[in-house]
Amino acid sequence: MSIPSLPFCIELGYNKHMILLEYEAKKILKDSSTPTPKGYTASVKIAPQTVELPLPVVIKSQVPTGGRGKLGGIKLASTQEEFTAYSNTISKLSIKNFTPSTLLIEEALNIDRELYLSLRIDRSSESIELLAHQNGGVEIEENAAESFFRFSLSEAPTLAQGEALAEFYDLESHSFALQEMLKNLYSCFVENDATLIEINPLILTKEGELVAGDCKMTLDDSAAFRHPEWSFEAGQAESNFVTLNSDGQVATIANGAGLAMATVDAVSASGLTPANFLDIGGGASAESVLEAFKSILEYKNVQAIVINIFAGITRCDEVAKAIITAKSQLTHLPPLFIRLAGTNYLEAKALLDAENIPLLPTLNDCLAAAKKEIAHV
Ligand code: GDP
Ligand code: MN
Repeated sequence: MSIPSLPFCIELGYNKHMILLEYEAKKILKDSSTPTPKGYTASVKIAPQTVELPLPVVIKSQVPTGGRGKLGGIKLASTQEEFTAYSNTISKLSIKNFTPSTLLIEEALNIDRELYLSLRIDRSSESIELLAHQNGGVEIEENAAESFFRFSLSEAPTLAQGEALAEFYDLESHSFALQEMLKNLYSCFVENDATLIEINPLILTKEGELVAGDCKMTLDDSAAFRHPEWSFEAGQAESNFVTLNSDGQVATIANGAGLAMATVDAVSASGLTPANFLDIGGGASAESVLEAFKSILEYKNVQAIVINIFAGITRCDEVAKAIITAKSQLTHLPPLFIRLAGTNYLEAKALLDAENIPLLPTLNDCLAAAKKEIAHV
């Protein structure tokens, strides 16, 4: 989730984060003694027919994005017929342009309360920040930043901190369980070189157990050398696409983390609101750039797309091909303001000229033109 009012690029840093799928994250949690629901995975290739747990069960689409519940990616099946039907629909369902390879099937929980608990790297205090909220679940982003309970952990959490958390949740009866959970989560975070562990919801069951209902985990890519055990389904698929403000006016596509950040900052400095950060990476293919356009179309307020490419390994003509395909395939694509430089620039220019798609010489020209466009609307 994004916390309101963070500066744009400071939070992003230069590190790449591997985003795990929920089942991968939950396995790590479980190995660190954090309670997770009983469950198993199934490949969508062989749609699961028989339920391996007592009904009812929850069927969960394993895609690297949140908000699955609202988009139909999570269903409660109470009968065998429902199980078969939902497994089939969820297997084919595209969620924010992702379709799952794996389904997670879990025992349904008797939910009493849904809480929020996360640990993340806090760059400003150079520590791990704990963030908690009494009202977890799918509407977490609606809560005001001040309503979160937070503290910094520069070393392992103390028993008093666990107690304070229990008090914040109004769960003094679960003080011991929360102290244990905090201690285990902290070691899990450190030992796995995580940059984020977000449990939302942390479910309090009617039976009085605290269980991780969902988990988003990201790991620090640059620590991979000390984790020969890392092998994740979604880890490689990350496109470095980060939403900064889903109501933003300007979407950005750039290559290289530094240039992508500079582009976002330049949009912001020009008085416009950037919607996203995107580093298409070196050697990006036309297909992956097309995927980026599709993600951008999810934003409802974007009125301009600024494309800023300084091609080294990336090739301008590949980007140009994606631009041409996007313009012909995607309806309602906002106006594009494009600056390309570097490898295969001339080839790209020829391709774009043939389609009457203009190029601008500098990023400043792109921003000035985008501003004009937005003032018009
Ligand atoms: P998300 O929508 O991608 O964040 O997926 P979640 O795993 O957080 O599920 C969304 C919502 O489904 C939760 O907030 C719960 O309200 C609801 N839900 C209903 N039954 C269950 C259950 O047995 N387990 C879990 N994890 N969630 C459930
Ligand atoms: Mn969730």
